[in-house]
Amino acid sequence: MSKIQRVEINKNYHASIHCPFCGQLVVKTDFEDDEELIPVNPCPHTLFMAHDEGFEYRSDRFDVNMSLSGIEDDEIETGDKGYDGLTDKVSIADSIKFASYVGAPSFFGSYVGFAPLDIK
Ligand SMILES: [Zn+2]
Repeated sequence: MSKIQRVEINKNYHASIHCPFCGQLVVKTDFEDDEELIPVNPCPHTLFMAHDEGFEYRSDRFDVNMSLSGIEDDEIETGDKGYDGLTDKVSIADSIKFASYVGAPSFFGSYVGFAPLDIK
């Protein structure tokens, strides 16, 4: 069984994230201007969007893969590794997860996962 591949972003955590498969701007985190953040702009390849306090988006493919179908966000048990550890368990082939970590003192993490569409 394949596991999701991780890409960690530790210094340039403000970088916006585009889907590696279609190029859509999925996470816009440009704090330079006063534009509203677009926290949820998933493309068809987006599996999930989460941060250390919860999910912002879950796709059907993610829910099926993780056996979370029909379970509300606030009913999900993440385990002791939180949403980072939970989303590491995705087993969709060729899936990719971008984990962005803000530095000290918060160490707040954001997680976005993608996978090609033709893979179940
Ligand atoms: Zn895409």
